[in-house]
Amino acid sequence: KRVGAPRERSTAEARVAMTPESALKLQKLGYECLIESGAGKAAGFSDKAYREAGVTVVESCDELYASADVIAKVRPPEVAEIEKLGPGKTLISFFYPAQNATLLDQARATGANIIAMDMVPRISRAQKMDALSSMANIAGYRAVIEAGSNFGRFFTGQVTAAGKVPPAKVLVIGAGVAGLAAIGTATSLGAITYAFDVRPEVAEQIESMGAEFAYLDFAGTQQDGAASGGYAAPSSPEFREKQLAKFRELAPDMDIVITTALIPGRDAPKLWLADMVAAMKPGSVIVDLAAERGGNCDLTIADQRVVSDNGVVIIGYTDFPSRMAAQASTLYSTNIRHMMTDLTPGKDGKLVHNMEDDVIRGATIAFEGAITFPPPPPKVQ
Ligand code: NAD
Repeated sequence: KRVGAPRERSTAEARVAMTPESALKLQKLGYECLIESGAGKAAGFSDKAYREAGVTVVESCDELYASADVIAKVRPPEVAEIEKLGPGKTLISFFYPAQNATLLDQARATGANIIAMDMVPRISRAQKMDALSSMANIAGYRAVIEAGSNFGRFFTGQVTAAGKVPPAKVLVIGAGVAGLAAIGTATSLGAITYAFDVRPEVAEQIESMGAEFAYLDFAGTQQDGAASGGYAAPSSPEFREKQLAKFRELAPDMDIVITTALIPGRDAPKLWLADMVAAMKPGSVIVDLAAERGGNCDLTIADQRVVSDNGVVIIGYTDFPSRMAAQASTLYSTNIRHMMTDLTPGKDGKLVHNMEDDVIRGATIAFEGAITFPPPPPKVQ
């Protein structure tokens, strides 16, 4: 069988789902690999590099979809791509089926099997395929780098002949995968880093990364906004008031604020309000990683960099992984390759779509003409 990666149709997307390195591994699983000409260019992988890794470079998207049995891509398919699918083909990409019901039905109608990388269950065994985490890690890192390039000062404190420089103070709100990556990056650059999350269990992780947990004075517990399975739930009004009061207290002192707070299935909670932005020093920077879901900051505009009246820069880009396309493609193509490994038990280039396997079942959103989303809860944790 053949695995192929098309060029991403969106001009805003620089990532690619197959790299020369992942293609070598896919060939070890018994697959022939195809790539559409130019697909890796924006991520730094030339057609020549693919050819050297034994990949066949095809000239058009049509040819790629016609020749490949498994199509691996990054963004959800466009309608024109879905029309090229058919029975016996497997598409693996981000899909966000809950938000893309019509697209899912169109994909189902082709008879192709669809695997959504964003639906890989978050259980230990599936961590190697967890593309949401690998991309969130990049977003968290890049948020700090982006903040730094918009900030006119050092992160680290210095004593120089020209004077003493205080370290920057960074606040990270939300300590999930992206937030922890941001904390790690900010502390490694020498900033004094504070972090806050509604889930009290992350305090230890935050502190072990060299940041300070911003505790609230709330009847001795932060538990209020924590839901099951490691995700957050909306906070009670009392808890929210305490949280906002804490942020108000911190605002004048923070140079950089990175917000990453999300609650599954809801708009991002508004946590960094207009008055907090107004209380910050000119030249301070806010990077809002929740911009795509409406933003944690009142002033965020998705995909834009705005400057407030008092000179605070607010960055709402939603494409941080694509801005680090080489790294993101390397990690994403590895996530895909691990998915292919599990789909190829015989390592013989024969895809076995085992719907009894929790991880494969969880990620499969359409199978042999039927919609299989949402999946039943996983049997094993
Ligand atoms: P997420 O993107 O859904 O949310 C980001 C963070 O925002 C979370 O930590 C959440 O608690 C926090 N948040 C929500 N509301 C907030 C508020 N009002 N104030 C402050 N913070 C708020 O989270 P994620 O990065 O996808 O991770 C969610 C969980 O999944 C974590 O517990 C993580 O450890 C777990 N996880 C497990 C696996 C695995 O086992 N394979 C893989 C990835 C993540």
